[in-house]
Amino acid sequence: MPILEIIQPDNPLLRKKAFRVPDSSFNDAKFQQLVDDMIETMDSANGVGLAAPQIAQSLRLIVVRLPDTSEEDREEYGELAGQLFVVANPKIIKQSREMVEGVEGCLSMPGLLGEVDRYEMVVVTGQDRHGKDFRIKAKDWLARVFQHEIDHLNGILYIDHLQKEVIDAKKKK
Ligand code: ZN
Repeated sequence: MPILEIIQPDNPLLRKKAFRVPDSSFNDAKFQQLVDDMIETMDSANGVGLAAPQIAQSLRLIVVRLPDTSEEDREEYGELAGQLFVVANPKIIKQSREMVEGVEGCLSMPGLLGEVDRYEMVVVTGQDRHGKDFRIKAKDWLARVFQHEIDHLNGILYIDHLQKEVIDAKKKK
């Protein structure tokens, strides 16, 4: 399975609204391959999420996986640690009133981090990789990742929501 190239903001595709995954795609071997390639690409980049526009595919498709690499991960995320979510046509149908501040990075902007306000809880609906109905109530970090990845489908990057100036992680070290 190939690892795909993750595009950077100089590629205008990252700023385009992505197209719906049509129902006819779910039985398509090429679509299933794309899902596998996205998972592999996310994992090899040590990311917690990846949206199809980031690999130059204009599709409403995201993959999300919280880390499961240390005891702390398992303590922090519990049964969500390492759990994979593949969501086609994801949509936030409900969100908490409370917003929380947190630090985010993006695989399309390596080395940068920024502080972004996100809803503390979101309910996301969509379809799984086989076209079946998907629904999750996500909180905290997982809610943040879903909001970040769904933004990508609308051409929005986290730097559009910045509370403070972007932090250059490489310079700080
Ligand atoms: Zn991103």
